[in-house]
Amino acid sequence: MSQRRTAIVTGGGSGIGRATAHRLASGGITVAILDVNGEAAENVAKEITHQGDEAIAFGSVDVSDRAQVNAAVEQVHNTLGPVLVLVNNAGVTEFDRFLNISDDLWDRVMAVNLNGTFYCTQAVLPDMIAAKWGRIVNISSSSTYSGQPFMTHYVAAKSAVVGLTKALALEFGPKGVTVNTIPPGFVDTPMLRRAEKSGFLGGSVDEHAQRTPVRRSGRPEDIANACAFLVSDEAGYITGQIFGVNGGRNT
Ligand code: NAD
Repeated sequence: MSQRRTAIVTGGGSGIGRATAHRLASGGITVAILDVNGEAAENVAKEITHQGDEAIAFGSVDVSDRAQVNAAVEQVHNTLGPVLVLVNNAGVTEFDRFLNISDDLWDRVMAVNLNGTFYCTQAVLPDMIAAKWGRIVNISSSSTYSGQPFMTHYVAAKSAVVGLTKALALEFGPKGVTVNTIPPGFVDTPMLRRAEKSGFLGGSVDEHAQRTPVRRSGRPEDIANACAFLVSDEAGYITGQIFGVNGGRNT
């Protein structure tokens, strides 16, 4: 396929999403950045266009709100054409003792990490089915392998994203759509630094890096590069997979 493809990257205003938006755009994809922080999304779109690549931010979009997701995806479709690549990256972490988790907090963590993935995926699939080609990458978490204390709500939500990925891959493989998940492990982003500051990380980022087999923490670009491969034509025989990018922390 020679014409430019359009991708949506959720949570593209920071960290892994920002790096992924840059990486896909530098690979010739037009990127729509959806983020609840509209200003951050706008800034990333500007960074990308200043480099001569194509990206547009679509205001403030909360992926946990189906109406906002549907309106944004329609706007992307009308502005940039069919959406054939989706990176469900927007997420929130919380650290709370299990017995202190309220229904509201539980629902919020599920709403962003799991429901957001559900809403965005339902909104873009019709374009992919019509094109008989699509690529979906869901960003989960390495905590789904190992568990993580004080993150029961988050680990439950991200583990559900892994299950969603596998089931979607089986249903939409025959339609030309691949669905994979990358569970990042210890990637140096604002989210990780907030976790370090909260004292729930079990040591500093540097201490964790020294215990990581490759002796460094992850960079957002590490996840972005894996994402770029999974959304490429070359990755067409890879679907339903958990594609670990974690410096060997989980094997
Ligand atoms: P980050 O906090 O730097 O960036 C997250 C982005 O998502 C922000 O721009 C934020 O505004 C956006 N966002 C949050 N809630 C949203 C919502 N409701 N709607 C739309 N956008 C929303 O975090 P990051 O480290 O880059 O994390 C990216 C993804 O990777 C998340 O899903 C996170 O759970 C996952 N992850 C990260 C790590 C890590 O080590 N950094 C590890 C495991 C999983």
